[in-house]
Amino acid sequence: MKTVCEINKCNGCMACADACPKKCIKIRDEITAFNAAIDEDLCINCKICEKTCPNVNKPEKIKPIEWKQGWAPAEIRKYSTSGGAASAIIQSFIQDGGFVASCLFQDGRFYFDITNDLFVAKKFAGSKYVKSNPTGIYKKIQERLKTDKVLFIGLPCQVAALKNYVKKQDNLYTIDLICHGTPSVKLLEKYLNESGYRLDKLMDIRFRTKTNMGLNSNNHEVSFLLAMDHYLCAFLSSVDYTENCYSCQFASIERVSDLTLGDSWGTEYKEQEKNGISLLLTQTKKGKQLICMAEMELQNVDLENAIANNHQLSHPSILTDKRVKFMKKIEEGKSFKSATFAVLPKMVLRQTIKGILIKLHLIKVGGSIDE
Ligand SMILES: Cc1cc2nc3c(=O)[nH]c(=O)nc-3n(C[C@H](O)[C@H](O)[C@H](O)COP(=O)(O)OP(=O)(O)OC[C@H]3O[C@@H](n4cnc5c(N)ncnc54)[C@H](O)[C@@H]3O)c2cc1C
Ligand code: SF4
Ligand code: SF4
Ligand code: SF4
Repeated sequence: MKTVCEINKCNGCMACADACPKKCIKIRDEITAFNAAIDEDLCINCKICEKTCPNVNKPEKIKPIEWKQGWAPAEIRKYSTSGGAASAIIQSFIQDGGFVASCLFQDGRFYFDITNDLFVAKKFAGSKYVKSNPTGIYKKIQERLKTDKVLFIGLPCQVAALKNYVKKQDNLYTIDLICHGTPSVKLLEKYLNESGYRLDKLMDIRFRTKTNMGLNSNNHEVSFLLAMDHYLCAFLSSVDYTENCYSCQFASIERVSDLTLGDSWGTEYKEQEKNGISLLLTQTKKGKQLICMAEMELQNVDLENAIANNHQLSHPSILTDKRVKFMKKIEEGKSFKSATFAVLPKMVLRQTIKGILIKLHLIKVGGSIDE
């Protein structure tokens, strides 16, 4: 198989497939890894795919010039995953006449849309702990940039791909998330199927809310899960990402975007932490503009402490024996739940007991089993 970048190192950004003039690239999701396979019978060897691919055409990365922590007004913060910085910036950018492109969940897909409608943009809110699919968005952004300013929010690998696709553009603003890795959507589907749900039937899906670290599905049939479930155990323990994520070139304090958003882990604002606190790393003047225009309460942050509490700012997630064993079980056809239990028995048991205790009202949601 001839591939655009090194075998099993594709991040699934879809940019090469979108850019190929002969449409002869197929992105193969093999669960453990993605690959961009080229149909050599159709390929004209123009190399556009390589110029677009962030693994071949490596992006420029910049050190932050400013760093802050903070939170958006309560009504925005409550429906956001962290401190609500993304939604506060989206709102002000649209009110200032711009378009925003980001990821949303609809019809079982984690796809990207571009809009200047505040109602539609509200659907962007929330972290999707899965490999999202930017197919089609690069071209739409390129078209929109001819007349308007555009803000793109996505994973660092997607921001890098976009920059390669559209080249330098004065009216393009970019925000990347701190990202420790993403699993294939096929794993999420597998987990949901085992739990009696179908991804394509869900109206909405939330991976993390302010009251819950489980995977909440909201289709009027599904009750809220109360403790961290198998899916979140596997995700937060880094056992289910595609192979490329364990050597992610974006796992450093030098960033590809104008502004980087994440969680302010290790913050001294412990009371505020329950409602989420955003970490904001500003790389450029455009990043500063984005922060200035948003309605947010900002505080200083100790950068060394923030890095120490967020490994993705210094090194990628580590590919452990547990990850190897987990993927082997999946390849053997074992269920998601049994594969997770096989590698994380204590964590799964602890969370299962926690869920039972919450149901019996013996501990509160967000509480611990030591209480
Ligand atoms: C897979 C993943 C891993 C992460 N890992 C870390 C980490 O290790 N450390 C850390 O500090 N923060 C991490 N984050 C970021 C964190 O969870 C929050 O998304 C971030 O702090 C922004 O929160 P917010 O409240 O400002 O905005 P939110 O309301 O959470 O909005 C987030 C924005 O990001 C976009 N987005 C969400 N999920 C995806 C996705 N899968 N692909 C592309 N765009 C997406 C949304 O469309 C929205 O525009 C991760 C996020 C994701 C999606
Ligand atoms: S070299 Fe050109 S034609 Fe061939 S796969 Fe790449 S973009 Fe497509
Ligand atoms: S451009 Fe993106 S999808 Fe294509 S090979 Fe490179 S990383 Fe994979
Ligand atoms: S860890 Fe790196 S390569 Fe993997 S999804 Fe996140 S930014 Fe992309």
